[in-house]
Amino acid sequence: MSTTDIEGVTDYELFIDGAFRASHGGDRIEVSFPYDGTVWATVPDATEEDVDDAVAAARAAFERDEWRDTKPSDRRVILNQIADTIDAHADELAELETLQNGKLLREMKEQLSGLGEWYRYYGRIAEEVESGRTIPVDKKDGQMFNYIRHEPFGVVGAITAWNSPLLLTAWKLAPALAAGNTFVHKPSEETPVSALRFVELIYEHTDLPDGVYNVVPGQGQTGAALTAHTDVDKLAFTGSTAVGRKVAKAAGENLTKVSLELGGKSPNVIFSDANLDDAVNGVMKGIFAATGQTCMAGSRVLVHEDVHEEFVSKLTERAGDIKMGDPRNMDTQMGPVAFRGQWETVHKYVQSGLEEGATLEIGGEMPADQPGECFIQPTVFVDVENDMTVAREEIFGPVASVISFSSLDEALEIANDTDFGLAAAIWTQDMDRANEFVETVEAGTVWVNEYRLIAPNSPFGGYKASGLGRENGREGLEEYYQTKSVWYNHAGEVGDPFVLE
Ligand code: NDP
Repeated sequence: MSTTDIEGVTDYELFIDGAFRASHGGDRIEVSFPYDGTVWATVPDATEEDVDDAVAAARAAFERDEWRDTKPSDRRVILNQIADTIDAHADELAELETLQNGKLLREMKEQLSGLGEWYRYYGRIAEEVESGRTIPVDKKDGQMFNYIRHEPFGVVGAITAWNSPLLLTAWKLAPALAAGNTFVHKPSEETPVSALRFVELIYEHTDLPDGVYNVVPGQGQTGAALTAHTDVDKLAFTGSTAVGRKVAKAAGENLTKVSLELGGKSPNVIFSDANLDDAVNGVMKGIFAATGQTCMAGSRVLVHEDVHEEFVSKLTERAGDIKMGDPRNMDTQMGPVAFRGQWETVHKYVQSGLEEGATLEIGGEMPADQPGECFIQPTVFVDVENDMTVAREEIFGPVASVISFSSLDEALEIANDTDFGLAAAIWTQDMDRANEFVETVEAGTVWVNEYRLIAPNSPFGGYKASGLGRENGREGLEEYYQTKSVWYNHAGEVGDPFVLE
């Protein structure tokens, strides 16, 4: 596929109250294909007034009977329609994702072909959760009837990162709608187009009432306007820990409920009894898939000293064989990073690794044979100490920092010596050792002899600075409900007014 076969530039608008509309401001954001820098779309840079309009539309939709009176089973029907719409347009949406962020088309096709399952899953389980639970309260000789109602918050403000745009949206939109909320979404400025096309498709092909799902593309200040908005009832954020802290601060100011999916510096730990070829594969999955741009990247590779040399040699050989190229080609294994600023960030971290004394085993530079300015070679550092910057900060690029250890205790100490706690993995045949690792490691997800697996029904989220709350699974739905406890008096007597019964 040539680099010049993207034809023309498509201009998108905001999507508010069931239709595209122009922004109050005139600024626009250019969207380019990171493979070669071709600009292929523009979107408005939504202003505070645009955010006000979107929140007002979502509020009005939340209060209209058309949505408010829906039962979980009605919403299940709509969520299934959304899933069917995704299935029918998976290839188109996958291509848009690749054109925005340069991720492999074959990964995005796989992601899009399974994306509908998130909507089907939440449509299904919302019916079970909302059935209400009766509490056997020990009051008034059993004459009090107490039960739980789960109610939506109202307007959800969602802000997402650029690395898996529609997947990260699904983790919020599916449970939010299942629970009966309405939604205002600010996608990343790097990847706004798939969100706009997605919402357009939803309103073309499903019965979702106008105003329930709105999309306001824009830069950081658009996100800041949404997080500070006093008519947003719940915030859901995916992004860096630094911006997550700002979102949490704004949420704290308004006492808005908030869930945060943030960064990681996840340990991928290899013991000497592991199947080394599988473990090398798992490390490749952890750090070179998606050009290292995944929150769950296994960026700290802890290797037992007995197999360190052999493992590093295998990993370096595999890293050197990675086929870089156009992410639209089905045999490409690693594409570019998503935009030039990210390339500079990754390169800066490579420099810091060198300055602080790590040994560069392979990579670290822009390959000479690729177009554009966003390719970086698969990179492996060895002789890394856990206090070096490359072991402490999230790089969000294809940079593995290999650290040697000699015992399980030492591996656990290093694994937990981090601000983050998103994910971790262990490679071993010894299940007692694996179990001790699982119990002791501070991470929201742990894989044993695997890496980078997720599912709609398995909760995902961070310990420590990697986040607040959970997405996916039943826990992910609970983030979008508030609980009401209802008391009915069947006893007839109200009792002593001066005593808390
Ligand atoms: P950022 O934190 O830079 O941005 C995330 C989103 O927040 C973007 O839409 C961004 O807009 C917006 N934003 C920027 N400033 C503000 C602000 N002041 N107030 C509100 N919103 C704002 O993250 P990236 O987009 O660079 O994504 C990479 C990060 O996301 C990594 O740290 C990664 O680990 C994390 N991530 C976490 C996941 C998880 O599930 N835990 C999953 C995927 C990624 P704009 O794009 O215009 O700057």
